[in-house]
Amino acid sequence: MKCSPNSPILLTSSLHVDEARKAISQLVKELIEESQAIGDVTHIETVSLDQAINRILAEDLLSPIDVPAADNSAMDGYAFNGECLGASDATISLKIVGTAYAGKPYVGKINPGECLKIMTGAVMPIGCDTVIPQEFTSTQTETQIEFQENQLKPGENRRLRGEDLQQGKPAISSGRLLRPSDLGLAASLGIATLKVKRKIKVAILSSGNELRSLDQTLSAGSIYDSNRYSLTGLLNRLNLDIIDCGIVRDDPASLKQAFLDAATKADVLISSGGVSVGEADFTKQIMQELGDVGFWKIAMRPGRPMAFGILKPVAGESPARKTLFFGLPGNPVAVMVTFYQFVRSALLQLNGANQTEPPITQAICEAPIRKKPGRTEFQRAIFGRNADGRPSVKLTGSQGAGILRSMSEANCFVILGHDQGNISAGDWVDVALFDGLL
Ligand code: AMP
Ligand code: MG
Repeated sequence: MKCSPNSPILLTSSLHVDEARKAISQLVKELIEESQAIGDVTHIETVSLDQAINRILAEDLLSPIDVPAADNSAMDGYAFNGECLGASDATISLKIVGTAYAGKPYVGKINPGECLKIMTGAVMPIGCDTVIPQEFTSTQTETQIEFQENQLKPGENRRLRGEDLQQGKPAISSGRLLRPSDLGLAASLGIATLKVKRKIKVAILSSGNELRSLDQTLSAGSIYDSNRYSLTGLLNRLNLDIIDCGIVRDDPASLKQAFLDAATKADVLISSGGVSVGEADFTKQIMQELGDVGFWKIAMRPGRPMAFGILKPVAGESPARKTLFFGLPGNPVAVMVTFYQFVRSALLQLNGANQTEPPITQAICEAPIRKKPGRTEFQRAIFGRNADGRPSVKLTGSQGAGILRSMSEANCFVILGHDQGNISAGDWVDVALFDGLL
């Protein structure tokens, strides 16, 4: 689907959320292909682990070692040869011949009838394949333990060499959005640096004559620009380079200059405001000169108007260097919803992530919700547990698109699908948790 201003999308009174997502994903794919052709996205950086959080891994990370490097004990207990075990309740008596600590292996062989006192993580000695946890033994002296032979099976409580990771096999796949566990995993392999995709540059700007920056005093009818701050927070979750282009007045010359400026510096431009019916014509005119941008009416709430497309390369730049453009609606909640629904996945896709969709779960809705079929709704809610201990959601008060408090108090969206009608108390609904995302 094309997103040109002349495309049939403009004739569609309301575009399904899924259609919009498909169109965005398709355009991002084309952009990646074009930039691959000129080698623009092949940039890879090497960063230390402490800089790698939320970056995208650029190539498979192969394990240089087996993890664990040797068979070792999963418990504090006694290591012995499990051949002596059986199904009866007969008592086994073993002589303790020494101790193995994590980092201080026992040197020597354990013979039948003998055992070794062993700590969690200590290397299994020669002749042993089983560990009886200390609390399973019935008798314990300095020199001897006793236990029933049917209390465990041969091989129990032993971690095998390479059971976590095998040498030469991928430990983390290319395209992974690196999380804390990945950094720990790399460190456990002795790897101090990772090859990651370059940070994409994302320019943000707020458009509107009524907007004031935080160091200005409010005059009648003016408001503080909050969108740049929520957008900065959202983008920081993704460890990108942010270019703050500030507040731009609603006049053609200023807007044009700001868009040109952003197109020169950034891979992506995200603006907020100025795409709703009264103002779109004005922005449309500029976009016709600068790029190929569609103005969408999306069947969703909040966040109905949105512009999306590309800004053409500025004269003198490399021919394929286009800038992806998202013109988000101005309402503060709508900005966050449209970012969640469209922008976040596109940024991840553009940067080569293999998992771009945020996870969705389900919960029981505590109160009825009125909902008209024919649009997707994102209601702000608190996810928790109901009196029966089951996952539940409760909406956070007034749900107007400009009421940022509903978002600030929420920890999730309740997502009501396009065809869904009214919700009754007790119905299961789709839930998208904010944690780590918004
Ligand atoms: P617009 O999409 O420009 O028609 O804006 C819709 C509503 O969002 C209006 O009430 C604007 O004042 C408000 N708005 C637009 N941009 C911002 C912003 N950056 N911060 C806070 N509110 C905004
Ligand atoms: Mg406006």
